[in-house]
Amino acid sequence: MRIAIDFTIRKYKELVRAFVESGYRITTVRQYLETYPAGKILVLRHDVDEQPQNARKMAEAEKELGVNATYYFRRVSKSDHPDIIRMIAQMGHEIGYHYEDLTLSEGNLPKAIESFGRNLEYFRQYYPVKTVCMHGSSSSRFDNREIWQPVQFGAYGRLGEP
Ligand SMILES: [Zn+2]
Repeated sequence: MRIAIDFTIRKYKELVRAFVESGYRITTVRQYLETYPAGKILVLRHDVDEQPQNARKMAEAEKELGVNATYYFRRVSKSDHPDIIRMIAQMGHEIGYHYEDLTLSEGNLPKAIESFGRNLEYFRQYYPVKTVCMHGSSSSRFDNREIWQPVQFGAYGRLGEP
């Protein structure tokens, strides 16, 4: 049997609505980490690997449903579209940094830590970024999370990572 997978915004809205109707409270990563709410919780987050215009459509759909999500943007041209980041932030969603500094620095740890700080400041122009999320570059031999070994977890005002 073949199962059709429906990735349309219409279907996505049905899914989110089903969670709300089943008594789930939908939060961003930041809201979750700041308040640790009790009860049935759905932490809603998206990695914007590419095609940020699709993220914008998703953000609009969520806004219509009255829920907020977290959007993690990469600092590469196919993800980092300032106009779209601003729009999504203005809709009340959280913006985070989808980092891959160790991959981009080809494993050079000091360079990666420096670029992480710089890129975080870059995204903080648009939103007071508190949470970050690693981009798992499948074609890379570097694990981007390794930059945290020599760096304190709370450094950079970082609240957490899903
Ligand atoms: Zn990714």
